[in-house]
Amino acid sequence: MTTYTTHNAEETLKIGKDIGNGLEAGDTVCIHGDLGAGKTCLVQGIARGLGVSENEYVRSPTFTILHSHPGRLTLHHFDFYRLSGPGEIEDLGLDEFLQGDGVCAVEWPERLGPLSPEKRIEVRIIQVSDTRRDITINHLTTKKEG
Ligand code: ADP
Ligand code: MG
Repeated sequence: MTTYTTHNAEETLKIGKDIGNGLEAGDTVCIHGDLGAGKTCLVQGIARGLGVSENEYVRSPTFTILHSHPGRLTLHHFDFYRLSGPGEIEDLGLDEFLQGDGVCAVEWPERLGPLSPEKRIEVRIIQVSDTRRDITINHLTTKKEG
């Protein structure tokens, strides 16, 4: 587990870019944090690291749930803020994305519940002040019980 502290959006973007550089097909990045923490900002960095065109506008897919951006690997950007839980998510055919040729970045991943992939990169962004963010990154490979 690694923790970074950032003091502006550009620094958070840079951490996202480093994550994006290292991603492989089938990877999922789950990004936890309150509204305004910087989850979308981090995804914008991931997009850069994946070689997504600078002309692609990466914004929160809050109302559409999913935006996909072509790059070295296709970035599937999910935002589950509006969803109440796994029941609604099951209908999306999420597995196709999680096991596909691209990579997934998920805002509000708590909503996935048991649908959360076992192997994932967990990012947690804490708003310490107006501008300070503490960002922890944790690579998980935990097996489900049973
Ligand atoms: P979320 O997707 O978590 O709701 P956004 O990424 O959309 O959050 O917004 C984060 C906001 O916080 C932006 O307006 C950004 O400029 C601001 N901000 C201030 N400091 C930071 C920082 N250190 N890292 C990321 N964003 C920051
Ligand atoms: Mg967002």
